[in-house]
Amino acid sequence: MQRITILGATGSIGVSTLDVLARHPDQYQVYALSAHSRVDELAAQCRQFRPQRAVVGSAEAALELTRLLAGLPVDVSYGEAALCEIAASDDTDTVMAAIVGAAGLAPTLAAARAGKKVLLANKEALVMSGQLFMDAVREQATLLPIDSEHNAIFQSLPAGYAREPGAAGVAKILLTASGGPFLNRAVETLEAVTPEEACKHPNWSMGRKISVDSATMMNKGLEVIEAHWLFGAAPERIEVVIHPQSVIHSMVSYVDGSVLAQLGNPDMRTPIAHALAYPDRIASGVAQLDLTQMAALQFYQPDYARFPCLALAFDALRAGGTAPALLNAANEIAVEAFLERRIGFRDIDRVLRRVMDENAHGAAGDIEAVMAQDARARQAARDIVAAIARA
Ligand code: NDP
Ligand code: MG
Repeated sequence: MQRITILGATGSIGVSTLDVLARHPDQYQVYALSAHSRVDELAAQCRQFRPQRAVVGSAEAALELTRLLAGLPVDVSYGEAALCEIAASDDTDTVMAAIVGAAGLAPTLAAARAGKKVLLANKEALVMSGQLFMDAVREQATLLPIDSEHNAIFQSLPAGYAREPGAAGVAKILLTASGGPFLNRAVETLEAVTPEEACKHPNWSMGRKISVDSATMMNKGLEVIEAHWLFGAAPERIEVVIHPQSVIHSMVSYVDGSVLAQLGNPDMRTPIAHALAYPDRIASGVAQLDLTQMAALQFYQPDYARFPCLALAFDALRAGGTAPALLNAANEIAVEAFLERRIGFRDIDRVLRRVMDENAHGAAGDIEAVMAQDARARQAARDIVAAIARA
């Protein structure tokens, strides 16, 4: 029996994870679940999966959950310290890190430091803390990527891959990108797109923040940084390839000319099942890919003028230190402001450019330095958003 903690159980990844777990009750047992504010959804999950612990975002939410779970033996608590406890507890083996954004960093790091098997969906945590996170993993934890591209790359690399430049004859990582909902839309019309249009991804059903990131292609930018840390690849060895059908989830190109790819229907239950069972395989509920039903598969180079966020992410990766944390924090603020209709879609990249240009970054020596950079970047982005919203 693998005992599992799901951080962010009520989100898109959390729900898909529980769907896979429910298919294998003989192999997996839920130890703890967390949500932020969607208490009703968490209560329903607790009734079905009977975790020992449930964690929410506030005292009020904890009271409400306790009331909803009256009679069930679930220990309810709230806040970051409680999230870190359920991530690092001796009673859990595997932690699904599926909180969205910087809020997931502390508990995900706690899981790594406690030597857990960490299934990483929360890419922002790795983007922010890079080397610090990988050092924590290297000491004792096991890290398995859930992001579909990184899971595909992991599957296309040799087992025990050394995460060193040029190791195992790896020439390049080919990170595929769907291009999101605005791949072919006239650039001048992007100023006026709505949150609803931005969140309507052609291939994937996901949370709102990552959906907007897919529309700006900041998601791919964050994934470039994620690939750098997961696979030890220098920026020039990571190539973004637009592939609108999202059937090939990414590829590894080798020095002898071979290219290995992982294919599948676009459904996150495949990478989730892969990581849960690794190195075995379990059924995920995803239909087998029928290649004969597939239209042509297309591949293009990305257009950096249409998607300036992708270039900003490469800049932040090359700059190093706390620059990725700066970019990530500013992006979280800008995306939230766009979703609340306080700024336009194209203002997102304008905010990010200004925060990057106007704020220094430093060494990412410890988590305190990263969190301080995160806080400064949030304030800087809030100020710029407020000025745009007033104008
Ligand atoms: P969702 O928005 O659907 O879910 C986010 C989860 O995190 C919810 O459980 C939410 O709780 C919880 N949460 C939100 N804010 C906080 C906070 N401040 N503190 C603690 N918990 C919080 O996101 P997704 O499932 O789409 O994405 C989760 C992560 O996985 C992201 O980092 C994303 O980039 C990554 N990812 C997602 C993919 C997908 O297909 N969805 C694909 C690849 C990566 P509540 O429900 O109560 O608000
Ligand atoms: Mg992805």
